[in-house]
Parts: sequence; C-alpha cells; structure tokens
Amino acid sequence: MSSNMEIYNTFGLPATADRYLVVRDESQLRTLLSTNQINHPYLILGGGSNMVFTKHFPGTIIHLENKGICLLEESPSQDDVLVEAAAGEVWDDFVHYCIAHGWYGAENLVAIPGTVGAAPVQNVGAYGVEAKNVIYSVRAFDIFTGQERIFTNAECQFAYRNSIFKGTLRNHFIIWSVVFRLHKVFAPDLQYKALSDALQSACIKNPTPQQLADIITEVRWRKLPRPEQMGSAGSFFKNPVVSVEHYERLKSLYPDIVAYSVSDGYKLAAGWLIEKAGWKGRDMGRCGVYEKQALVLVNRGGCSGSEVLALADAVTDDVQKLFGVILEKEAIII
Ligand SMILES: Cc1cc2nc3c(=O)[nH]c(=O)nc-3n(C[C@H](O)[C@H](O)[C@H](O)COP(=O)(O)OP(=O)(O)OC[C@H]3O[C@@H](n4cnc5c(N)ncnc54)[C@H](O)[C@@H]3O)c2cc1C
Repeated sequence: MSSNMEIYNTFGLPATADRYLVVRDESQLRTLLSTNQINHPYLILGGGSNMVFTKHFPGTIIHLENKGICLLEESPSQDDVLVEAAAGEVWDDFVHYCIAHGWYGAENLVAIPGTVGAAPVQNVGAYGVEAKNVIYSVRAFDIFTGQERIFTNAECQFAYRNSIFKGTLRNHFIIWSVVFRLHKVFAPDLQYKALSDALQSACIKNPTPQQLADIITEVRWRKLPRPEQMGSAGSFFKNPVVSVEHYERLKSLYPDIVAYSVSDGYKLAAGWLIEKAGWKGRDMGRCGVYEKQALVLVNRGGCSGSEVLALADAVTDDVQKLFGVILEKEAIII
C-alpha cells in the first residue's frame, strides 16, 4: 500500500511510503513493539518540519499523535518545576501552555514548527536558547526490544543541532515524552542581538513572558517563510565551524564575514556565505533560496525532493569553491 504524505511535511514535497501508522496511546505502541508489527525500515515522523522526502519510503512511517502535558513536581521552596509533555504535542502549543502556567525558560523557542518529541532530536534552538537548557530527561522506547528507557539530559549528548537521537541512536528509539525543568521565576535571556534590537525598537526594557514570546514570534516570521504560505524545512544548512587559521584567512579576504568565536574555532554564518556566493533569492527549477534568509531553501510550487537536493548541491559547491568550507545539511534527507 502506498500512502501520500505531502501534507505531513512542511516542505510540501510529494512523499509516499509502504505503510503509515498513527500511534496515539502507549498501550497501542507497546503492542506494536511487542508483536513486531513495525516493518523495517521505519521512520518516525513528527510534524515533518525538518525533513526532505526525495523518494518513496519502502517501509513504515510511524506518526506520533500522543497528547498531554502534566506537572510532575513543584516544591514551594524551590524555583523549578518538572513538566512532562507527550511527544505528539505541538511544540509551540507547549511553549504557550508553559507561559500561561507561569513556567519559564522556553520562551525563546516559541513558534519553532514541529512536535515536542522531535525537539530533543536536533536540540532545537533559537534566539540564544537551546532545548538542552530546559530538557530534564527523555522517555523513549527501544524500537528493537520494546524496552522503555529514560535518558538523562547528559545521556542525550546534546550539541549544536544534534543529539544522540540524531547520531548513534538515530531511528533506534521512539521518544514518547519529554520532561522539562522550568522556572517559576521569569529570568529571560535577552542577549541575542536580533532580539535585543527588536525589544529596543519596541521600547520594551523588561518584557513580560507573553510580550517576549510575541516579539520573538514577530521577528521570526519577518525572516522565515510561514509553512502555510511557502514550503521549507527552516534552516537547510548548519552554521559551519572552521579553525582559527581558516577564519583569519577568510577574514583578511572578506572583512565583513559574519562569525563568532567557539571553543574549537569560529562558527561562520552559513546564510552570509550563501548570500556572498550569489544565491540569496535565486531559483533553480521549482525551488529556490529564500530572499529574506539565504539559509532557507524554499518550494516555489510543486517542486520535488530531488530538485531540492540539486539546489542544495549547487549551493554547497559554490560555497566550497569560494570559501573552502563544506556546508552540512541540518535538514534530514529521506
Ligand atoms: C519555518 C521553519 C522554521 C524553523 N525554525 C527552527 C529553529 O528556529 N530552530 C530549530 O532548531 N529548528 C527549526 N526548524 C526545524 C524544525 O522545526 C525542528 O527540527 C523541529 O524540531 C522538527 O520537528 P518535527 O516534529 O517536525 O520533526 P520531523 O521533521 O517530523 O522529524 C525530525 C527528526 O526527528 C525524528 N523524530 C521526530 N519525532 C520523533 C520522536 N517522537 N521520536 C524519535 N525521533 C523523532 C524524525 O525521525 C527525524 O529524524 C524550523 C523549521 C521550519 C519549517
């Protein structure tokens, strides 16, 4: 059987699979795992906002739709709360739910598309905050043995847009719920430049949690295409890290290069490299590089996954020729 999943990926790419399974409750999942009903290969699908479907998927797509947000622990003497959210919850709904309940720490991650279950996978990040800052533990099921396992924050091996679930344990565990440690006292992180600029132009010094979420949402959609208006997977490439020597060479050639120092060298703004290579706003076939943010590849209408890959390769080649830097894809290619 082939099922069409164009609506299940924000790029709006045509996508089919042999089998499509929706899982809503834990007993259903346990039965599926204990009776070996999941045909290999398989793919876990959340909101499909970080995926590029390039061909028919010859196996089972498991789409999680379990719901629920629950307060696990709250001690009046402590400033923190532990809150568990089901993997199938929409991430943005979760962030708003927390703000409404006075649980803080995730505001900067507002309006990131996708689900709670996918947030640990690539350690979603925005405006100076990453999911790893608020994730306490991850509850998951081993797809091979059906065993439940709790991963502590450290065991998730979070890194920049990465974790153990995107690395060595990719497609090995189904994340069923995530426990977050949030704060009862609002202590916002306003350091990120685009955010502090936006607050300054709105003449807001001490935003309320809701004001902060509103401003970030507005700034975000000024620069990124809304999935309902234009297909994309958000940032298509990661920001590459180069050695100090490599950075200094580039800096002498391109004094306006955008970069910041990290422990192992310099992180370069991939959007700047792509723009400088002449790709910002340029189309190739039915896809293109977004005119407001060169890090984002977009569907101009009816494009296929292979067209997206061809564009990504052309951009990567030009950036490599010009700067000697290899761009790594952030989006997951299926
Ligand atoms: C317009 C736009 C803006 C974006 N902005 C940002 C941003 O600011 N920061 C950022 O970090 N990302 C951003 N993204 C990328 C995307 O939103 C995130 O990667 C998000 O976490 C993906 O969630 P999803 O549910 O759509 O996951 P999917 O795309 O469905 O899946 C992503 C990966 O996670 C795996 N996965 C999903 N759910 C589970 C689960 N329950 N258990 C195990 N594995 C699972 C999948 O198998 C796949 O490997 C953006 C995307 C778009 C389209």
